[in-house]
Amino acid sequence: MINLKDLTLKEMEDLVSSMGQPSFRGKQVFQWIYRGIESFDDMTNLPLTFRRALSEKAFIGKLEILEIQKSKSDGTRKYLFRLEDGNTIESVFMKYRFGNSICVSSQAGCRMGCSFCASTKKGLVRNLTPGEILSQLMAAEADTGEKIGHIVVMGTGEPFDNYENLAAFLRIVNDKNGLNIGMRNLTVSTCGLIPVIERFADDFPQVNLAVSLHGATDEIRSAMMPVNRRYPLEELIATCRAYTKKTGRRITFEYTLVNGVNDSDKDAAGLKKLLSGMLCHVNLIPLNKVEESGFDTVSRQRAMEFQQILENNGITATVRRELGSDIDAACGQLRLSREKS
Ligand code: SAH
Repeated sequence: MINLKDLTLKEMEDLVSSMGQPSFRGKQVFQWIYRGIESFDDMTNLPLTFRRALSEKAFIGKLEILEIQKSKSDGTRKYLFRLEDGNTIESVFMKYRFGNSICVSSQAGCRMGCSFCASTKKGLVRNLTPGEILSQLMAAEADTGEKIGHIVVMGTGEPFDNYENLAAFLRIVNDKNGLNIGMRNLTVSTCGLIPVIERFADDFPQVNLAVSLHGATDEIRSAMMPVNRRYPLEELIATCRAYTKKTGRRITFEYTLVNGVNDSDKDAAGLKKLLSGMLCHVNLIPLNKVEESGFDTVSRQRAMEFQQILENNGITATVRRELGSDIDAACGQLRLSREKS
């Protein structure tokens, strides 16, 4: 059975043609789905026989909400979803001044092995399909009754380790007959898979790119992120510089601050050296403590001092606003705690 939410408009038209229907019916089906209908019965402008034939071949995938944690302070909602095969994933809905945003997962689990991250503790279970990625947004819109205008692919998983499905997801979300969200309202975060960054620059030059840095030397970065052994800093930064030249777009570097590991003045100076002159921005994230990881977070004050050092050296930097701190919004924690219990 085909999940119709996995198909781009083009693929939907091809499917419909292969069933002997005119291809404009593909667009009709596509439009119905992204208007949020959940049953073929509601596709009232399609012939009954075609609806029946379609329902024998395909279904409209849906996520089941297992749990919602609602922040009392800022409207943040954290969802735990159940996939059709019983695996679980999580997403976070956030309210900003510029509108609503959702942080979605791209994989169930992750195989990148970053030492401080909860999402990777049990390895990769499987890739999410395009429909499973975008259903996270649709389910959150249905639950909150609010429109979501921004998506960050920063939940569980490495999106560039699931590139084909990520690309289809971005196309469906951006399609004016789909969710119609502008490319510039989409952000993808990677741990630094160099060949895919290059591909992404060609395929999606308008989608925002965030790169997880976390260390200014190979020694520190490799200890936190095993991927650095395969794609070391010097090559990564050269790729990022080439990306900004090619696309004209600013890169966001995520830098999770860990007490005594990467938060010294020397680390800030190293970052300055690494990034100077690049079209970029550093987003400092005080570590969300993950049980058993043995790492400590930094104080808000230390984060702000670190930011100041960067700013004084001409590198723009912000400290990530803490949303949903009362509901434990750190990456992968809900899924992990649920599996333990
Ligand atoms: N795999 C992608 C996207 C998912 S993680 C990537 O690596 O970018 C999104 C961001 O949260 C990454 O920068 C990641 O390193 C960071 N992160 C993961 N666990 C964290 C934690 N416990 N505290 C703070 N940031 C964390």
